[in-house]
Amino acid sequence: MNDRLAATRLLEAGLIEARSVANGQTGVFARVDLAAGTVFTRFLGPDLAWADVPEAEVVYVNSFAPFEWTVPLTLARFVNHACEPNAEIRPDRALATLRAVAAGSELTIDYEWADAALCARFPQHYFWDPRWTFTCRCGSAGCRGLIDRYRAR
Ligand SMILES: [Zn+2]
Repeated sequence: MNDRLAATRLLEAGLIEARSVANGQTGVFARVDLAAGTVFTRFLGPDLAWADVPEAEVVYVNSFAPFEWTVPLTLARFVNHACEPNAEIRPDRALATLRAVAAGSELTIDYEWADAALCARFPQHYFWDPRWTFTCRCGSAGCRGLIDRYRAR
């Protein structure tokens, strides 16, 4: 994992940066113009059993394999949700742009994403923790409001 982590940090350094946004939160922004399909970070860090995820990390984890929860050590940690996001999480842990993103724009993903194949095979693993629920104010026409479940695909 360390080689992949180092490579991902190099990738991040050229393409993105974390910045403060409203309410004391952090967001991730494009440093340069990004073409559609650009991988700008990966969801890498220790893969833990749910019971071993520290309380402070619960809101940051994501799962890419049954019964494993990844605590991100990369800037993937700070990518915020939007209901019509400009980036996506891929099953291989990459975060990539869905369309061209101009320098200075915030990068967003859909927090209700889950890998459809894994959800179908391991439905008991894909519970939704109530600590992940929040009211979205992304302002898009298709804003779902309450973010409170997986929408596998
Ligand atoms: Zn929204």
